[in-house]
Amino acid sequence: MTVKRYLFDTGLGGRAVIREVGNDGRPYVRLNQTWFHPQGGGQPSDRGRIGGQEVTHIAHAPGGEVNHYLASTAGLVVGQEVEVAVDAATRGANARLHTGGHLVATLVEQLFPGLTAVAGHHWPRESRVEFAGASLPPPERVRQSLPDAIARAIGEDLPVRVVGDPLTSRAVQIGPHRALPCGGTHLERVGLLGRLTVTGVKVKGGRLRVSYE
Ligand SMILES: [Zn+2]
Repeated sequence: MTVKRYLFDTGLGGRAVIREVGNDGRPYVRLNQTWFHPQGGGQPSDRGRIGGQEVTHIAHAPGGEVNHYLASTAGLVVGQEVEVAVDAATRGANARLHTGGHLVATLVEQLFPGLTAVAGHHWPRESRVEFAGASLPPPERVRQSLPDAIARAIGEDLPVRVVGDPLTSRAVQIGPHRALPCGGTHLERVGLLGRLTVTGVKVKGGRLRVSYE
C-alpha cells in the first residue's frame, strides 16, 4: 500500500523509495509514499516530476496502491530513492476549483433544505455540482440567490478545515457548515477563491446541476 501523504501533509514533495517499476501500456512507478493526488473524487490528478521524469498521470490502483505514470521509467529501479515534486501551479488550480465546488455544495444545501450534493466534477471549464432531492427548486430561484451567498462566504473568508481521521474518515468542512466526506486537496480559506461565478443552473436527469468557474 502506498502511504498517501496528500491526505495529511500539504507539502508538495520529498524523498520516496520506488517499490515497483511497471508498464500497463504506459510506464509507471509505485512508491512507498506519495504527495501526488490521483485523479478521482471529481478532481484531476496532480502533475510534477519523480526522479527527474515528467509525471503524465496519477491513478489509484488495486490494494491501496497509486500508479505514477511517467514519460519514461528509463534508469529507475526498485529500491531507488527518488525526489518527488508536485507542480505547485497545477495543485493550486485543482485545489481552487475543488474548494469552489465544496462552497457551491454547502451553500445550495443551506439555501434549499432537502437538496443533497450527490456528485461533483471539478475540472477546468466543466466544473459542476449535482444535487438530488424529493422536489427540486426552479433553476431560476437558484440563479437568483446563490451568487449573493457565494459573495458573502468569500467576503467572510470562512476557513476550510479537514476533520476526522485523515486515513479513515476524512471530511472537509467550510466554516460552520456540514462536513462532507472528501479525499481531495483544498484551499485553506474560502477567501483565497477570490471570485466564483455561477455559469449555469439546470435540471438534468432528475438532478439539479449547478455549473461554476
Ligand atoms: Zn474536497
